[in-house]
Amino acid sequence: MKALVSYPDLCTGCRLCELACAFRVGKTMHPARSRITVVKWEDTGFYLPFTCLQCEKPACASACPVEAITRREDTGAMVVDAERCIGCGMCQVSCPFGAACVDRGTRVASKCDLCDGSPRCAEICPASAIRYQDEQEAAAHRRRSQVARALSHPEIFPGGEAR
Ligand code: SF4
Repeated sequence: MKALVSYPDLCTGCRLCELACAFRVGKTMHPARSRITVVKWEDTGFYLPFTCLQCEKPACASACPVEAITRREDTGAMVVDAERCIGCGMCQVSCPFGAACVDRGTRVASKCDLCDGSPRCAEICPASAIRYQDEQEAAAHRRRSQVARALSHPEIFPGGEAR
């Protein structure tokens, strides 16, 4: 199984990923329709492309009163059944990462579905800051990032940056 992984240190903040996603979702270039968001800290130049993590125990699916969000076996993505969805927004309020919303146009829940296994954001990113990669590789990357983040806090790991 593959997963979408962000590499914020490579992201230039160009937001092409948002446009590619919005176009796939709503045939529009308006980033409001995008299911991926580039969170920006302009003062430090840090950009984080963020979308649904396809959680193992998804709060969105548990909160949905009509069981409209289920996992696809082939891609592992949690997907919305537009016919079932009643647009109540429970998925939106229950997701701790803010990765689900109710689309203002369709009034149906909207979240990343991994583009049926060919995520447009990863395909278009000129900086390879979003990659659709093997889960083991993705887990290794997450571990490395967590260690790097921890080591960047000298108050917790004195002298950690030098290691
Ligand atoms: S397309 Fe890539 S580089 Fe551009 S904002 Fe998205 S993640 Fe960052």
